Amino acid sequence: MGLLSGKVAVITGGTRGIGKAVALRFAQEGADVAFTYIERGDLALQTEEELRALGVRCKSYAADASDFAKTKEVVAEIVKEFGRIDVLVNNAGITRDALVFRMNESQWDEVLRINLKSAFNYIHFVAPVMTRQRSGSIINISSIVGIGGNAGQANYSASKAALIGLAKSVAKELGGRGIRANCVAPGYIISDMTAKLPEAVRKEWVEDTPLQRGGTVEEVANAALFLASDLSSFITAQVLRCDGGYHC
Ligand code: NDP
Repeated sequence: MGLLSGKVAVITGGTRGIGKAVALRFAQEGADVAFTYIERGDLALQTEEELRALGVRCKSYAADASDFAKTKEVVAEIVKEFGRIDVLVNNAGITRDALVFRMNESQWDEVLRINLKSAFNYIHFVAPVMTRQRSGSIINISSIVGIGGNAGQANYSASKAALIGLAKSVAKELGGRGIRANCVAPGYIISDMTAKLPEAVRKEWVEDTPLQRGGTVEEVANAALFLASDLSSFITAQVLRCDGGYHC
């Protein structure tokens, strides 16, 4: 028996990086997995194959998580296909970095729309399903820069801070129905997203991290697994930092 046997998990952005690692880790613990992506259909098929090889049911959905009407459709399809939803991981996220006085309106809007509105969309449509089941675990992938801020990432940091407020509010609203809501706040994690950063910036992140390295996507997936499983059954409205000790 795995930690998530008999459970169904929904993950936004499961084709790469942290989302894919979460999908695989959950599947290793017995969860059936539905995941979304936006453009990399090739990677979605590959992830599906890797999940099936672990002996679970899975399905990918090409759906912009920030599209409210599409989210309604996708959640209805997942319920039809899998029958229930036990875990929701709001992982889809992007960066559009610039200093605040150089940041244009679309950089601000796009990051807030994809990082924050997407989480609202999925919580809005998944919460009634979890409420009927009288159980569920919602996990928002925030960031340590949502706690401490970061120069050049006013839009991203604001969106990640808001995900914490969102999780804490949802925890209060839905706790009485057996639904928990928490955040994982990763530090510097090696993925496509951080590969775009200049070498000097990555070096600085590592130097400021007591464990003196970047984290792996698998390490973030383990934190998400803890919050998804019954191991954390009395833990809600919390932010679990997965940052090698980095303090911003
Ligand atoms: P990646 O860029 O490696 O992967 C992003 C994933 O999100 C992809 O699967 C992508 O799909 C999907 N995605 C992007 N936009 C949308 C959308 N609108 N709708 C649905 N899916 C979408 O990112 P990471 O794995 O590094 O990051 C994952 C999460 O973790 C993000 O929220 C990020 O902010 C957060 N995080 C990352 C840190 C890091 O150091 N890497 C640190 C702290 C937090 P597709 O393949 O189709 O493009």
